[in-house]
Amino acid sequence: MALLEVNQAVKRFGGLVAVNKVDLTIEKGEIRGLIGPNGSGKSTMVNLISGVYRNDGGSIKLDGREIANLPAHTIANLRVSRTFQTIRLFGTLSVQENVMVGFYARSKSNLADVILNSPRLVKEEAGLRKRAEELLDLVELKPFKDQPGKSLTLGRQRVLEIARALAAEPKLLILDEPAAGMNPSEKEWLVDVIRRISQSGVSILLIEHHMPVVMALAEHIAVMNFGVKIADGTPEEIRQNDAVIEAYLGRREDDVAVG
Ligand code: ADP
Ligand code: MG
Repeated sequence: MALLEVNQAVKRFGGLVAVNKVDLTIEKGEIRGLIGPNGSGKSTMVNLISGVYRNDGGSIKLDGREIANLPAHTIANLRVSRTFQTIRLFGTLSVQENVMVGFYARSKSNLADVILNSPRLVKEEAGLRKRAEELLDLVELKPFKDQPGKSLTLGRQRVLEIARALAAEPKLLILDEPAAGMNPSEKEWLVDVIRRISQSGVSILLIEHHMPVVMALAEHIAVMNFGVKIADGTPEEIRQNDAVIEAYLGRREDDVAVG
């Protein structure tokens, strides 16, 4: 059975159909790519899967269980973790504390508890600090663990958000444009990090606007344009697909370049 099976998902905003009967399957252990030009509906798909938006149609099954329209925290509890396209760090908290915030994504404790170190949490804190260090090690951010989150470069902040998403021990990790704003060497680092996370047993949905990162990682890639899925296949098939080339035509060079 597939880990995630989206069937004919629909999301409307007034007269605009942002997601129009889109199917998407993610197998266990897979890195699944989802690409498309700006405004094609990628983030809306993420918001449907993670419960941020309500579905206007279709079905979304996680391990065979219908999750469409469940509240976001319920879906998070089913071990679906995500990052956001806009960075959402706590700038004055340390890098390590930013990861620790992620441990509470699934618990009832709120952020105030985490920051104020309520007595109930102090007990677990030593273990959580250690686990946070392990996750920072996995993403190669451990040397920065005591620095404030906002002191990191934009690229490192994005990877820090991935580490925080991992703190919730997801079986499905959804990354919404993690390479945005990264320089070429940061992108290479990101590819390594995502590969390592995948090897640790987490299934990944990788949303990107730029193709190269997805091409390097995903075995299967779906392509959206104007809310519709226009292609789905291996990187090689996607590269040669006329509808995909058409959708990306006239776009900036680096969107199309495959390297
Ligand atoms: P992508 O992530 O592929 O760039 P989005 O999913 O963010 O695209 O957006 C798809 C379309 O839906 C765009 O036309 C966008 O303006 C519109 N859209 C997204 N979110 C909203 C919203 N909350 N309200 C109204 N329109 C939205
Ligand atoms: Mg988006």
